[in-house]
Amino acid sequence: MATKKKEKKENSNKNAWLKYSKEGTDKIFEFCEGYKDFLSKCKTERECVTEIIKMAEAEGYKDLYSVKKVKPGDKLYANNMGKALVLFHAGSEPLEKGMKILGAHIDSPRLDLKQNPLYEDSDLAMLETHYYGGVKKYQWVAIPLAIHGVVAKKDGSVIDVVIGEDDNDPVIGISDLLIHLSADQMEKKASKVIEGEDLNVLCGSIPLDQEEKEAVKANIVKLLKEKYDFEEEDFFSAELEVVTAGKARDYGLDRSMVMGYGHDDRICAYTSAKALFEIKETDRTAVCILVDKEEIGSVGATGMHSKFFENAVAELIDKTDSYSELKVRRAMANSHMLSSDVSAAFDPNYPSVMEKKNTAYFGKGIVFNKYTGSRGKGGSNDANAEFIAKLRGIMEKHDVSYQSAELGKVDQGGGGTIAYIMANYNMQVIDCGVALHNMHAPWEVASKVDIYETKNGYVAFLKEI
Ligand code: MN
Ligand code: MN
Repeated sequence: MATKKKEKKENSNKNAWLKYSKEGTDKIFEFCEGYKDFLSKCKTERECVTEIIKMAEAEGYKDLYSVKKVKPGDKLYANNMGKALVLFHAGSEPLEKGMKILGAHIDSPRLDLKQNPLYEDSDLAMLETHYYGGVKKYQWVAIPLAIHGVVAKKDGSVIDVVIGEDDNDPVIGISDLLIHLSADQMEKKASKVIEGEDLNVLCGSIPLDQEEKEAVKANIVKLLKEKYDFEEEDFFSAELEVVTAGKARDYGLDRSMVMGYGHDDRICAYTSAKALFEIKETDRTAVCILVDKEEIGSVGATGMHSKFFENAVAELIDKTDSYSELKVRRAMANSHMLSSDVSAAFDPNYPSVMEKKNTAYFGKGIVFNKYTGSRGKGGSNDANAEFIAKLRGIMEKHDVSYQSAELGKVDQGGGGTIAYIMANYNMQVIDCGVALHNMHAPWEVASKVDIYETKNGYVAFLKEI
């Protein structure tokens, strides 16, 4: 018994894989198969919303705006323009008592097509892009890329586009300069090796017969018309995202990790939604918020700064009992939230940017970041010690492996999340999530056991807070 107790105490420090028998490990792998499918399919915020609504409806969730009355136990979703989503599992207690909120973002770094993207140069058809979020531009050349998104036409129809994912699909890409002629390029700073305006996608090279001017471009326009029924000018009202082509895959000879495009932050979005679906009943209302535009500052109607969530809570209160602004304010202020986003995992290839005692590691479970920010915690939500203490107790009660981390060494850089925006409502918020290698690269890497522990951490939070 004495030895067992000691083991339990050291749990937060030991490798989480060691907790599991063969049966437990099988469960982790099985859970991650579902996640890999999700990640392979959902490469835009819109695709994430569509897929999670499908998952939610299978769990009995209904459109909040389609129901007249809400009672305890009801499951509802609110879709914000197809690009952000809120899921509510109504609790037995009044909303004024606050909510238990899991939040994550579903936009990822990528290259967006410009509104007038298509041109021809030297018998090649090219597409202009504008990168979205923080990217190392040199990572996006000489790899297979796909296009995902929508084209909205003047007649009100919206065409879904996915090119480059089916085995029979073509892929597109951005060329790099051959090493043989790179004498000048190799002398440049990494930020200048490939510049934003040079991220042009090659998409065709066959000229259209009988066409005199820009015949290759004309051929691409014709193809798009035939296959997708849109004209060149319809790019004006399109949202087409150039993303990494290909499926998420097992990574490592022992298959212990997942390599995929867009772990940041779909890894926390998927696990948050799955955790919410696991809850059978709840005292206070349980919520999952999935937002867009985090990578560019949480702006716009579908970002966390939008009033959408607050409005949805007001609707919910109105449909539950009688609406008052004070009830909305109390519901927000009395809430607790895990604002989830990815963290940097220690990487033996780049130890110099990490302070080893306050870094996340693969295999150590869900990561809690008391604060994020940069240059003296600037822009961070510094979570309250009392709230963190409560979370420690909850994680330990449910045998969830957890760790505390900062994003790299002081003064090395940093990053922000949606936590501080929700904290403005005076609720208790902490940053947490899954640690990654290669964050913001075309292919990011996460540990399967961390994905599983994170989901379990969310479930424990929803049960106990
Ligand atoms: Mn993120
Ligand atoms: Mn990010």
